[in-house]
Amino acid sequence: MNNPFKNAIKQLEKAAQVINLDNKVLALLKTPDRILQVKVPVKMDDGSLKIFEGYRVQHNNWAGPYKGGLRYYPTVDLDEVKALAFWMTIKCAVAGIPMGGGKGGVTVNPKELSEGELERLSREFGKVLAPNIGPRVDVPAPDVYTNSKIMNWVKESFIEYRKNIIKESGCDLKEKQEKEFEAVITGKALDQGGSKGRDRATAMGGFYILQKIIENQNLSVPTVAIQGFGNAGMTMAELCSEAGYRVVAVSDSKGGIYNPEGLDIKKVVEQKKSTGGIKGIEGIKEIENAELLELNVDVLVPAALENVITGENAENVKAKYIIELANGPVTPEADDILAKNGVKSVPDVLANGGGVTVSYFEWQQNLSGESWTEEQVLNKLKEIIVPAFETIWQLSIEKQIDLRTAAFAVALERLNKLCYTIDT
Ligand code: GLU
Repeated sequence: MNNPFKNAIKQLEKAAQVINLDNKVLALLKTPDRILQVKVPVKMDDGSLKIFEGYRVQHNNWAGPYKGGLRYYPTVDLDEVKALAFWMTIKCAVAGIPMGGGKGGVTVNPKELSEGELERLSREFGKVLAPNIGPRVDVPAPDVYTNSKIMNWVKESFIEYRKNIIKESGCDLKEKQEKEFEAVITGKALDQGGSKGRDRATAMGGFYILQKIIENQNLSVPTVAIQGFGNAGMTMAELCSEAGYRVVAVSDSKGGIYNPEGLDIKKVVEQKKSTGGIKGIEGIKEIENAELLELNVDVLVPAALENVITGENAENVKAKYIIELANGPVTPEADDILAKNGVKSVPDVLANGGGVTVSYFEWQQNLSGESWTEEQVLNKLKEIIVPAFETIWQLSIEKQIDLRTAAFAVALERLNKLCYTIDT
């Protein structure tokens, strides 16, 4: 079984060698600053008490507050959260935003909970996280199987906690202070202090990069296969189809669909929204997830979970380009095989950086009291993501290294400059 944290460390070591990173800085980055492992007790609808495992890993804050999502998924464990937190540190440094790396999660399948159970779980998780997060300390956001509604529950628990502290100390809560508390979480709904453009941001960042590649490589009508049909995958499918690319296959956790002529993405989205799945559209061929990864397409977009392209199947990948909208979808063994075969994989820490970048914009808007239009947000995102991609692409050519190693090299150079003086 692929351990995501071990994979993350391998990626780190590879890039550290390329730039000759100071050994002390390397050692500091290999270990997270703090690990919170918490129990989250929830009263279930049948009156029983269930205790869930929760985590928040604060990996690094040299650049700014810890930043990263909260994931609800049945296989969440400490090694996964540590890897994801580490990747957030690298991701924020790749984008050059003043945020550090963190990640959290609960080991739970939220699809098996009632609405009330989900709310109690999220409010309770927020309560146990509250003493350790804050707008200038650690700023969570949505991730796999979490959304703006869940973020709002967590935010409300945090605000309640802070208000109580202020009340007990006999001070007054200033209106401005209360407003600032909203910045403790990003990915909020628009009427709860969220930013325009945040819901589409992860896919949008990846799409801007894909557009650049298509432009640079003169691909006329690229064919695209997308694995994962959550927020990121679905939005990417819509963006590609609107741009006239041929999206030939998409999949979700229950399997995939394939049409070499191109799928009608509007229909697929409707099917997903009305039935919860993408299968069952008349006349459309169904395929396994594994088959989708090996289709003969120009672009493959893994947009679900870690470890989908591994030492086992990388040899069969026929796509020319991979856009990693998921975190950690390609293992280090797979990276070597893809590089040998000339497949260019745009790494997660760059390809899905649009999400955290717009989270940063949301945080900035909350703290300054401003509200930006969607156009402003997306323009600012493009101004960050496209130059980051171009720098990394150039570096990978100059140094003859894969795009992941180039992205890590850029991030490590920046982190190295920010590293506090080490006296030991
Ligand atoms: N969960 C997203 C990620 O993995 C977004 C994190 C954020 O917005 O803080 O990048």
